[in-house]
Amino acid sequence: MAAISLQNVVKRYGVGPKANQVIHGVNAEIADGEFIVIVGPSGCGKSTLLRMVAGLEDISSGTIAIGPRVVNDLEPAERDIAMVFQNYALYPHMSVFDNMAYGLKIAKVPKDEIQARVHKAAKILELGHLLARKPRELSGGQRQRVAMGRAIVRQPQVFLFDEPLSNLDAKLRAQTRIEIQKLHRELGITSLFVTHDQVEAMTLAQRMIVMNAGRMDQFGTPEEVYHTP
Ligand code: ADP
Ligand code: ADP
Repeated sequence: MAAISLQNVVKRYGVGPKANQVIHGVNAEIADGEFIVIVGPSGCGKSTLLRMVAGLEDISSGTIAIGPRVVNDLEPAERDIAMVFQNYALYPHMSVFDNMAYGLKIAKVPKDEIQARVHKAAKILELGHLLARKPRELSGGQRQRVAMGRAIVRQPQVFLFDEPLSNLDAKLRAQTRIEIQKLHRELGITSLFVTHDQVEAMTLAQRMIVMNAGRMDQFGTPEEVYHTP
């Protein structure tokens, strides 16, 4: 069974004659544990596609399933996903620990379970010594790791990354890319990663979805995508 299944997914913004169709029937089956990059130029619909998987946008028609469940009508919190954004706004008044724990507290996860999950994530991300700090006392790279920690502690079935590296400088971008690869090696969580950067896509992708004007042009390994005539 696919970890994520997209069947004839269509998105229109607006209704009637003025409707603008931005996703034209995307089909994709993503296997458990795969790291998939959605790549394509600005405005091609990458973010819209990801946000539909997240439940942040309604789909106009088609079906999205995560694991065995069709999620079309489920709220984001019910979808067993965690999302990492470009703007990883941390709560400035909260410690690193509390920033990572916050979503779990809201979800009423028991305290000892929260402790265990935050410490495990902190270990993976090498944040263990920084748990008592406030975001302003961290470097940009450390902040980005806290943002990833916040996603990891949810123990989601799927990670969704929306251009998480695009606000970082070149050095930090490279470091964080390695961090994300390490995370995927250790946790093996099915991931959808959106970027407009082809180098980033080739480095991270096990398979890539190449979008163009709302359509899926290609879906394959980087070798397949770049060596097809
Ligand atoms: P990408 O992530 O590839 O840059 P987007 O998914 O953000 O592309 O956008 C795809 C298309 O949908 C663009 O033409 C964009 O203008 C349009 N679009 C995105 N969000 C909205 C919205 N809320 N209302 C109307 N059109 C939108
Ligand atoms: P509260 O009931 O006030 O929300 P908790 O009992 O969850 O607090 O934990 C007390 C506080 O101690 C947490 O809010 C957190 O800031 C901090 N804390 C807990 N464990 C650690 C830790 N291992 N490292 C740093 N801070 C921690």
